[in-house]
Order: sequence, then structure tokens, then C-alpha cells
Amino acid sequence: MYDNKKDNMQNKIIQLKGIPAAPGIVIGHAHVFGAEDLTPSEIKIEAENVNAEIEKFKVALIKTKKEITSIENKISVELGVEHGKIFSAHLLVLEDAVLVEEVILRVKKKKRNVEFIFSEVLNSYVKALSEVKDEYLRDRMSDIMDVGKRILRNLMGTTDYRMEELSEKCIVIAYDLAPSDTAMMHKGRVLGFATDIGGRTSHTAIMAKSLEIPAVVGLDNITHLVKNGDLVILDGIHGVVIVNPTKNFIEKYEREKEKYEHLERDLTELRNLKSETIDGKKVILAGNIELPEDVASVIAHGGEGIGLYRTEYFFMNRQDLPSEEEQFNAYKSVAMRTKPNFVIVRTLDLGGDKFLSQLDIPKEMNPFLGWRAIRFCLARPDIFKTQLRAILRASSYGKFKLMYPLISGVEEFRKANVMLEEVKQELRKKNIPFDEKIPVGAMIEVPSAAMTSDILAKEAAFFSIGTNDLIQYTLAVDRVNEKIAYLYEPTHPAIIHMIKMIIDNGHKENIPVGLCGEMAGDISMIIILLGLGLDEFSTSPIAIPEVKKVFRSIKYSDAQKVAENVLSMKTGKEIQEYAYLMLKKLVPAIINDLSSS
Ligand code: PEP
Ligand code: MG
Repeated sequence: MYDNKKDNMQNKIIQLKGIPAAPGIVIGHAHVFGAEDLTPSEIKIEAENVNAEIEKFKVALIKTKKEITSIENKISVELGVEHGKIFSAHLLVLEDAVLVEEVILRVKKKKRNVEFIFSEVLNSYVKALSEVKDEYLRDRMSDIMDVGKRILRNLMGTTDYRMEELSEKCIVIAYDLAPSDTAMMHKGRVLGFATDIGGRTSHTAIMAKSLEIPAVVGLDNITHLVKNGDLVILDGIHGVVIVNPTKNFIEKYEREKEKYEHLERDLTELRNLKSETIDGKKVILAGNIELPEDVASVIAHGGEGIGLYRTEYFFMNRQDLPSEEEQFNAYKSVAMRTKPNFVIVRTLDLGGDKFLSQLDIPKEMNPFLGWRAIRFCLARPDIFKTQLRAILRASSYGKFKLMYPLISGVEEFRKANVMLEEVKQELRKKNIPFDEKIPVGAMIEVPSAAMTSDILAKEAAFFSIGTNDLIQYTLAVDRVNEKIAYLYEPTHPAIIHMIKMIIDNGHKENIPVGLCGEMAGDISMIIILLGLGLDEFSTSPIAIPEVKKVFRSIKYSDAQKVAENVLSMKTGKEIQEYAYLMLKKLVPAIINDLSSS
């Protein structure tokens, strides 16, 4: 797979964290693409040569059109017409009469070489687009750049060197990759790719996921840190890249890779199977998403719905706040893609470790204990109500449930509901349809909400336990501080007892109780949580198959016994060891996967 002999042990190990763009783990040697120089020199031309320049331009346009049509056909056949359409947009750029005419006119007027003039016109287009507010138009900039570069290469006589140049299997490292570069990647040759810039929602990332080429983007300066031939581990699941890894790292990631591939194989078998125990107890198994396009992954991994839609990600990485219309479109697409299954839409959960550059939120001593989530939303009804309006409007396109984060008691829950009711009234007045029966639930992630869950259960339509925060607040352990990570114990008796209390209080009022923290995807916790009576598990899509495997391998009655035993234990360590032991006993098939993690 890769040649260990090439490894230079003198090379310094570098670990980088970027944005996971397409899942999978690969280990291989780097092929670094430096920035491409497509700056043509300015050359004066004689009047009699003007027509020849224009002819050269027309030939380049025809050549570019042929290239794009062939990519479009390839992608439409391999991935479907939807993906092919990206390149139809490229063809439109090519056929833009204004652009073509402008180039011809300027060549005639300025008497300069056509590649220089074209580059000038292209830059003016890109500059104008980068200044417009409309996000859709700004996104089209990458299409124009992509086509523009192609035309320039054809004018300057350079070839589309990038992907063609690769003769052996490698991990591509580049400053950026255009969607068309990604589309031309040969899965057999490109093991994975990592880029300095880029986001999860770029066409490049979408294409990588569809082609199943593991990718990490937004690594900032990886092109300066990696040399051709360096050994690289690329983990597209967690967005990690390790350059010049030690033997230990290689062994660890080889195990991770095997585990991932093993799970992926199981996936095909599990996807359509029911999420239920041997003795017929049905459990809802859903997925967590951050962005609308993540729905596909939940469905692909066999999730029955979305148990947590973290809407705040839609507000990140941008200069302005998303308008009601933009939000509505995003939420509507999630509703429609998930239909007939449910989506729990969580309202904005900002603050803590999630900040927005466009909002001037003052720095706080303890951001996790500060102006966060529902507290922020109640203080900023302009932002909160805009979001509520967008969610409600989208609710008529699918099966939505609404959930508030960081609720600390019933008063806060009521205050949020007052604003919700005001928004509903506005919509009714304007005859704008929405789901009148949309269930409204509370996240239980603050100990005070857990302790008063009996009161909250009388007013909330459902609970979703947010263990990521509940653990940090209950045990007073900052969830992002690695120095005290050893104290962050999901099996601490306080946590187990609190979860039981929340489930029991919910059930007393006949409301369903789910859990959407990382604990729901922690394989060693599944039996305990099921035994405690949890109705719904929601986890990152990739963990869904493993969790389903556990459900389908055990009896609910056994899980109940395990949970009962756990409730009498005194320490987190004791519970953790017992949980592993029981998993080993009841689901021996999963142990191979576990021991490799
Ligand atoms: C949680 O706190 O458990 C949770 C699911 O929410 P987040 O991780 O977004 O805070
Ligand atoms: Mg939380």
C-alpha cells in the first residue's frame, strides 16, 4: 500500500486538524501541487494579428467546451445527473455572450494578446462577484474561476496537468481543488486529498463524498508543511492529517482504517434492518447533523431520522447572519430529504466553544457558563424569532420537532414558548402555513433541568439528553480542556443516576426521552442506556451501524438487568469495567472492532 522504506525517520512528525470533508482513512505518500501560475504576460500585437488572436480565443472556447462536456458525461454516468449538473453551470459560463464579447472587443481595442485580456476580464468578474452580498452569486465565483482557469490553460497551451500527472497511488496535497479537479480524480490513484482552504459545503467536498475519496479541507498551510513523498495519514472522519507519522501512529491508524472498512461492509447488510432487540423491543436510532447535506449520510448509514440538527453551523463561516429566507430554504431541504422520518431541529446554540464572527459577543471569563444558547436567543429576539419563523415555515414540508438548548428550568422553557407563540400568531395572521402541532421539547443538559425534569416533563413534548454538556456541568469538567479530560467520566454514578431520573420523569408524563450527546454512539454505553429505558438514540451517522448491531444482538431484558446492577455501583471505573464485560459477553462479535480502537 505504501513504501515504508521511503520514510525518513529524521522528518518531524506534524499533526494537523482541519475540516472533515469526506470520510475514510488512508495512509500514503504525498503528492504536493504548488499554486499553478496562470498569469499571462502582456504582449503588444499588430493590427493584422488581431483576428488571429480572436480565432485563438474561439478555438480555446471550443476545446474547453469539449473538456467540460466530457467531464459532465463522465460524472452523470458515474454519480448521476444531479452531480453532472454542476458542470452544466460551467457550460453556461462558457456561453456567456457578454464575457466573450468583452474579450473580443478589448483585444480589438487594446491590441494585446488574448490570454492577457481574458485574464483581465476574468479578474474583473471575480472581483465584482466577491463584493456582492448574495451568497448564491458569491458561490458561483468558484464556477467562474474553474472555467476561467480551463480557458486560460487552453490559451496558454498548458495542460490540465493536475490529475493526469499522477502515475502512482498518492495522497494529493493542494492549496485548493476545483470541483472539476476533484471530478477527474481517479479513485485508484488518488487515495485521498487535503487542502489548505475549503469548507465542508463546497462542491469539492460534496464531490469527494460522492466519489468516496477521503478528504480533509481547511488545513490552512499544509502545502507548506508537506514535501513530495512524505508519508501521510489522512483521517477524513475526524479531519486529521499526520505527516511523517511514527510507527505507533501508523499501527493505530491501520487498526482504525480496518475498523472503518469493516463497519462500512457491515453497513450494507444493516442499513435496511430494523433497530430492535432480539426480544422485539424497538429503539429509535437517529443521526446528528450539522448541515443540510449531512442528511444523506444519516440515510446511508441507516438512521431513522435526525435526532439533533445543530442549526448554528449554518450561521458559521460567513460575514453576515443568514436571512429568514436562506434559513427557510436550508430547513426545508432537511425536512424534505428526511421525510417521512422526523427531524429534531435545535434552535441556535451559540456561545461556549461556538462563536460567530459577525456577532459582537463580548469575551467572557467562563463562556460555557455564560451568554450561551437559549440565554443568548431570549436576549436577542430579532435573531431568535427570525430563526423560529424559518423553522415553522419549513415545518409544513416534513416532520419537524423543535428543541431548545441549555434549558435550565421551566421558566426559561416558557419564555421561549412565549416567543414561539408570538411568531406563530404572526404567521397565522399572514396565512403562512406551518405545522400547528409541531412538538416542542427541551434539551436536558444542565443539572438544574435534570433535577426539575419532573416539572419540565409536564410542559415539554419530549426530552433529549445532551450528555456532552450534562457531564461537563455535573462533574465541573470543561469539555474542551484536555488537562482534565480524565475526569470527564460518562460512567460516573452521578451521570447514570441523573439519566435514569430524566428518563423516569419523562415516562411518568408519557413523553419520549432521547439522548443526542456523544454517549449515544459510545458502544460500551448502549446496553446501560437501553436498560435504563431510553427511547431514542441519536449519534453521528458513522456510529449508527455499530449501535444498531448492539441492539440487534441483545435482549432488552438482559439490558434491564445490566442497568439495574449498574445503579448500585459506586465508581465510574467500576461501571465502565462492568459495561465492557457485559458487552463482551452479550455482543462478542463487536469486540474485535472495540479492541482495535
Ligand atoms: C450535548 O451537549 O450533549 C449536545 C448534544 O449538544 P452540543 O454537543 O451541540 O453542545
Ligand atoms: Mg449541548
